[in-house]
Order: sequence, then C-alpha cells, then structure tokens
Amino acid sequence: MDMGLQPDGRSWVSVDRSPFHPQGGGQKSDRGTIGGATVTHVMHGDGGNVLHLVEDPPSLHVGDEVDLCVDPVWRKMNSTLHTAGHLIATIVEQRFSPVRAYGAHHWPGEARVEFNLAGAPIDPARIEAELAVDLATAIDANLLVAVEGDPYTTRAIRIGSYSAIPCGGTHVSYLGVLVSVSVKKVRQKAGTLRISYDLN
Ligand SMILES: [Zn+2]
Repeated sequence: MDMGLQPDGRSWVSVDRSPFHPQGGGQKSDRGTIGGATVTHVMHGDGGNVLHLVEDPPSLHVGDEVDLCVDPVWRKMNSTLHTAGHLIATIVEQRFSPVRAYGAHHWPGEARVEFNLAGAPIDPARIEAELAVDLATAIDANLLVAVEGDPYTTRAIRIGSYSAIPCGGTHVSYLGVLVSVSVKKVRQKAGTLRISYDLN
C-alpha cells in the first residue's frame, strides 16, 4: 500500500489491486473502506494508478497489507443506474433509428441519456409510451447483462441479444434488478433529446 497527499491536502491511498470503481464513464466512484479508513472518492491518477481518497488516514501506513471493502449498497445503486442508462439508450436507438445516443450521466438523482435526433422531432408522448413498453418487456424477461472483451482494451457489455456497448463501468448481472427504474422526463431541444430517469 502507498499513500500521499493531493494538492488540495486530501489523503490518497493506492494498492496493488483494487476492486473499487474509479469515477468515470458517467458513473460515480465507489465508496467503502481501506484498512478501516473511510474511502470517500476514487479516481484515476498518473501512470494507471487508482487513487482512493480517504478520511482518518492516521490508521494507515505505507507498506501495510490492508483489507478493502466496497460499500455494496452504493455499488448496487450505481450499477443499476448504469445498466438502466445503457438499456434506455439501446431501446431508443432501436425504436427511433437513426436517433443516436451521444452521452450519458448515470449519477444518482441526475441520471440521463442524451441523443442526437438526426431528423424531425418525435412526439415525446410516443417516446415515453414505447420506451415504457420495451423497458417493461426487457426487465420482465430478466435479460442477462454479460461483460465481454479484454478488461483493459475492448471491454463491452451486452444486454440480452442487443448489440454490445463499449463500457468500463459496473453493471447488474440481470435486468430483473431494474424493476424500480422509471423515466422522469423526455425533453427535446435544438436537435437533441434528453431522457432523465431514476430508481423509485
Ligand atoms: Zn457504460
């Protein structure tokens, strides 16, 4: 285990191998504990290092062998939001081709997927209705969410028989977990479509 200080004075810890998801790809970082110290944020550092920002670091020392524990409730919520975002993107692209997703943000309380309309506006009520049907069908079928490719270069996820999606984030294993997903808002503006969603 190595440790140091960020320019802003916060303490970081790095380890040989970490199960923590660093923030990125539209997904919030994991939280948890390292050697009993609270991990508040995880980020990519220089040279492929993963930096775990910790509180109460006096309990840790360079060279320690430490136990790492990812907060399972926080991880599951973020994995669920991430999978839901890709499912929404996939359904909308298929239903409303040539609409294409160009961005996504899977953070709790502000999750959304953004699309280029690539054509005339679509009736938002139609998007909501057709998306709701396809979401319910996919979730009822409890489709498998498979991870494919090399973890460092070609990692992708595949939901059921939909096309593979390049992604480095964490996901639930089956769509049945997404029963609580709901579409909050469908908004179109200047050739783009934004679909906001949440878990509840
Ligand atoms: Zn992703």
